[in-house]
Amino acid sequence: MPTINENAFRILLETVPDGFFVHDAAGRFLDVNARSCADLGYTRDELLRMSINDISRGADAAANAARWRDAPVGLAMHFQETAVRKDGSAFPVEISLTCQFIDGQKLFFGLARDMSERDAARTAELKEAHERMEMAIRVGGLGIWDYDLVGDRLTCDEQWYRIMGRDPAQPVRDIASFRAFVHPGDVERVTEVRQTATRLVAEERDYEMIFRIVRPDGALRWLRSAGHVVEDADGRPRRAVGFVVDITEAHLAGEKLHQQTQEDPLTGLANRRRLDAELAKACLHATRTGEPVTLAMIDVDHFKLYNDRHGHVAGDEALIALAQILQGIARRPYDLAARYGGEEFVLLLPGIGDPETILQTIEDELAKLAIAHPASPVAPRLTVSCGCVVASELADTKPRDLLAACDGALYRAKEAGRNRSEVARI
Ligand code: GH3
Ligand code: MG
Ligand code: MG
Repeated sequence: MPTINENAFRILLETVPDGFFVHDAAGRFLDVNARSCADLGYTRDELLRMSINDISRGADAAANAARWRDAPVGLAMHFQETAVRKDGSAFPVEISLTCQFIDGQKLFFGLARDMSERDAARTAELKEAHERMEMAIRVGGLGIWDYDLVGDRLTCDEQWYRIMGRDPAQPVRDIASFRAFVHPGDVERVTEVRQTATRLVAEERDYEMIFRIVRPDGALRWLRSAGHVVEDADGRPRRAVGFVVDITEAHLAGEKLHQQTQEDPLTGLANRRRLDAELAKACLHATRTGEPVTLAMIDVDHFKLYNDRHGHVAGDEALIALAQILQGIARRPYDLAARYGGEEFVLLLPGIGDPETILQTIEDELAKLAIAHPASPVAPRLTVSCGCVVASELADTKPRDLLAACDGALYRAKEAGRNRSEVARI
């Protein structure tokens, strides 16, 4: 390897963007480059009469002396300092220092990099990131919560209190106090914090829950809460941080939409879609329990003639009136009155084995309304025919079999002169 002239190193040290310095074990400067002079605002001659302790803020000369005395030769260190300029102003520096044994004494060779620009940029970046986050949180309507699981301490921001409809001047500090906010139907699920956090940590999942609260004015609100569980070194949940957001409007819109897919718009009865689902459930239940099921199909007699005579608006009103009668009959929890289509309706009555009284009630109630139908060859008022099936042994009966049996019974009722019921048993 060729010997490199010491001059070359000197040139290099004058070129690097860092302050270079050499000091002895007492901290006295033995050499500095131009960058050190420029950074500190001293001339080279001035610095060579000074010590590291003179330009380091808060330097403890005695402690430094001990450190330098004990520093092992060859040691390389990296640390941060605050340097003080001649004019008294200070700036952050990052120091790389090595201790060497040269000409019978310990010498310290160092590079000092002015970090003020980088620190300022980092501060500005942090501030910007913080502002960005605050804006997003505000626009998103998020209420922030922070729960210390070890100390059972809850901390929430103002938006959180606004969502809860509570006064931040009366802070909620623990889960027990938070219980009072939550809807009784959801309170256990929401406040089982410890079990939930332990499970989430084990499953490496974040927290998410939808629950109801009751505001002090009695308003029911739907909230979505999401958060992250922070664990300690042993994997125990230590802290959970997250947000709540009020989703009441979206929830109600979703419910309404769901209801619309299940409901007949004219009569408000269950529609065909809902009937299919409930009938399938009823068959499963009957198969499991051996209980009977009654299914009745109700069809208006000569309704085409009614429409022709009175118009479709009056026809609609007659259908609504009939629907109300059926709704009044299907009153037990699993009963269902549905509009099967057109002027045909269905009653699903799980657990009923003797439908005769119910079928008679439909006839009687409709007779009471006495909706005039002069064009009907059957009676001067609106009448219905009813095809009914009672399934008492449902081991292998499917919804479509029940519907087919109903259809058959209805056909017989029509054939037999209308304004009557036919009951089939399977
Ligand atoms: P049947 O005694 O044999 O059942 O005779 P019908 O006239 O009732 O039977 P048909 O199937 O020939 O006619 C059914 C009529 O029901 C025809 C249709 O215009 C009417 N209809 C179906 N849905 C509605 C509705 O939503 N509103 C009104 N106003 N009429 C409807
Ligand atoms: Mg019909
Ligand atoms: Mg009809």
